[in-house]
Amino acid sequence: MTEKTASEKIEEEEIVIDVDEPELTVEDLPGVGPATAEKLREAGFEELLAIAVMSPSELAEQAELGEAVSAKIIAGAKKMADIGGFVSGTALLDRRKTVQKLTSGSPNFDELLGGGFETQAIVEVFGEFGSGKTQIGHQLAVNSILPLDKGGFDGEVFYIDTEDTFRPERIAQMAEAVGMDPQDALDRIHVARAYNSAHQILLVDEIKRMSKNLDVKLIIVDSLTSHFRAEYIGRGMLAPRQQKLNKHMKELKQLSDVNNALVLVTNQVMSKPDAMWGDPTKAIGGHIVAHASTFRLYLRKSKGGRRIARLIDSPNLPDGEAVFTVTTEGLRD
Ligand code: ADP
Ligand code: MG
Repeated sequence: MTEKTASEKIEEEEIVIDVDEPELTVEDLPGVGPATAEKLREAGFEELLAIAVMSPSELAEQAELGEAVSAKIIAGAKKMADIGGFVSGTALLDRRKTVQKLTSGSPNFDELLGGGFETQAIVEVFGEFGSGKTQIGHQLAVNSILPLDKGGFDGEVFYIDTEDTFRPERIAQMAEAVGMDPQDALDRIHVARAYNSAHQILLVDEIKRMSKNLDVKLIIVDSLTSHFRAEYIGRGMLAPRQQKLNKHMKELKQLSDVNNALVLVTNQVMSKPDAMWGDPTKAIGGHIVAHASTFRLYLRKSKGGRRIARLIDSPNLPDGEAVFTVTTEGLRD
């Protein structure tokens, strides 16, 4: 299986990301007892690295601790947090060679992405309600099941549905259009409805567990931000929300690396300005989501049912736009 070769290759190059390694928790930090651990967690500090990069005064304020205690905790976190290491450019180039590309069904769209949606990446699709984010999710789910020579991944799909907009009928329609047995397609798309952001985060752990026995090639979170947006209300909730989102995205990125898989997340932009959420043309989740995403696509509706996808801030591709349509058969030029 291609997935296996990819991960074997990664192992040889010692860029191993071990999912089973027990992670240190805030309790492991010097001077942190149960009460302090609780305060840290309540303020959204679950990870040592998140603490290591704070200043004592910031941490003191956010976690309601004394500054001296905060300084001690930060010093401990700096020693214990997994900061990551350096690998050679050659090793990284070899790793890049294992990247696979998934067709969207629209040659225009694929061209914008340098040949398709890449594995080992998080792609964020953001746009207004009705701009086609969920349609892209459905189409990529179907295409992932296609064999490699047809632009697919021949792999399993995990779909985290937070807005109750996954439609098996739509999958069947798109599957038939590419000559696939709808039943086969539906069998390989594993769907879970996430009831709140905590559940959404837990479902990623479940995918991690299931990926040991299944060839996970595509993970969709549609929508990434809706629960977070609904639950974390008010200025004081901004920092904890961003920390949760950050951790969630890091776990998704890890899944994409370990499985040589693609992660697609959708994000709605606001239709009008909002005191808490700011600029209406900006995606929710701000810098955290933007930085954690490898590719960002801004989607908008155009004349005659056409859709325009704009590629923003790609690490290796020029910014640009592609026009495509959403038809009964799915995404097309
Ligand atoms: P978003 O997730 O960005 O809110 P959607 O992906 O749900 O938006 O897009 C909805 C749009 O997709 C509809 O307004 C319609 O234009 C198009 N669409 C949905 N289903 C079909 C279909 N069966 N045939 C053609 N177009 C469809
Ligand atoms: Mg949608």
